[in-house]
Amino acid sequence: MSDVTFSSHAPGYWPAEAMDHWHDARWQLRNRVNSLADLEARLDLTDIERAGVLLAGHKLAMSITPHFFNLIDRDDPDCPIRRQVIPRIEEGWNAPEELSDPCGEDSHMPVPGLVHRYPDRVLFLVTDRCASYCRYCTRSRVVSGVGEQHLETQWEAAFKYLERTPQVRDVLLSGGDPLIFSDERLDRILTRLRAIPHIEFLRIGTRIPIFMPQRITPELCAMLKKHHPLFMSIHSNHPRELTSEVRDALGRLADVGIPLGNQSVLLRGVNDSVEVQQELVHKLLMCRVRPYYLYQCDLINGSSHLRTPVADGIAIIDGLRGHTTGYAIPQFVVDGPGGGGKIPLNPQYIIDSTPGKLTMRNYDGAVFDYPDPSPMPPAVLERLHQQSLQPQTL
Ligand SMILES: *Cc1c(COP(=O)(O)O)cnc(C)c1O
Repeated sequence: MSDVTFSSHAPGYWPAEAMDHWHDARWQLRNRVNSLADLEARLDLTDIERAGVLLAGHKLAMSITPHFFNLIDRDDPDCPIRRQVIPRIEEGWNAPEELSDPCGEDSHMPVPGLVHRYPDRVLFLVTDRCASYCRYCTRSRVVSGVGEQHLETQWEAAFKYLERTPQVRDVLLSGGDPLIFSDERLDRILTRLRAIPHIEFLRIGTRIPIFMPQRITPELCAMLKKHHPLFMSIHSNHPRELTSEVRDALGRLADVGIPLGNQSVLLRGVNDSVEVQQELVHKLLMCRVRPYYLYQCDLINGSSHLRTPVADGIAIIDGLRGHTTGYAIPQFVVDGPGGGGKIPLNPQYIIDSTPGKLTMRNYDGAVFDYPDPSPMPPAVLERLHQQSLQPQTL
């Protein structure tokens, strides 16, 4: 049995007086660590990190909320929290297979800011800002505001497109992080979407419950509750992210009826083992969150140091399926480079297939033959017909 803990580390790297403001999301945002000086005042950096921070300024900004920063283990240069948010020198190299828009989103936008790839649903990019920036961000070409390209969401044109496109029944708000907006602004956006009769289902993709659980106030939850059916996909990669504050914030969302899913990114040196993934998914269930997708890290420029071979993701699913609760197991997906969308990849359970028979293995390697259905012999069919016409003698 693993020891499930939801410890909290506040105030850690901050003076004790910070506790007076710690639970205020605006204080968390104002006190983000976003310069080399801020960072070095708190943590001894390696040369690899210092160079990374100096290079990051023109690609993807560094910004780390005090809440998340406190999860960093100062004695561990390979700390899985640190690898997600502190830039490293490797970001300065684009591997030959890498791209600035690995999922081909820019070419699937009928209106700037609205990605319409699948028949019945759209991805609505409502902001380019987040509470903290993940170094492997799939949208780093536009996110954080320091790169060459900028997100220019055309609000009115996007709403008009949705109004005249009845096949869209599902709108996914993402960015950036939609929960960076005020309650009032989010309420206006959700209200406008809810006024479109063919839009059945809304969801929000956000990492704010992890980066800044203080944002999940009772007022926010009461506002979101008005817009059901509304789902939320959070983004947690490592069990240490699920602190008691995060668990309580997720509980507040679940209590207003928002079904919660988690999208993890498989990252080298962060969560690329069955043990870490298993602890993560078990803690997610304790937080009332259903693991949804495990993503292969997209081919985003400067991310090769964080990417694993595809086979590693399949091996992780193999190590979970059957060994733990089915609800705990995410679907491993690869986003087809250039705009293929999400492609599910699964362990191979079929060992052989001949006409009429499949040979398969179960989760712990036992082999089973499974016969395809046999056609009923015509003579039996005839006999049963005859029987059915006999007087019933019960
Ligand atoms: C991921 C994604 C969606 C949502 O896909 P689901 O499988 O329904 O979660 C929709 N549009 C785009 C462009 C996406 O990348």
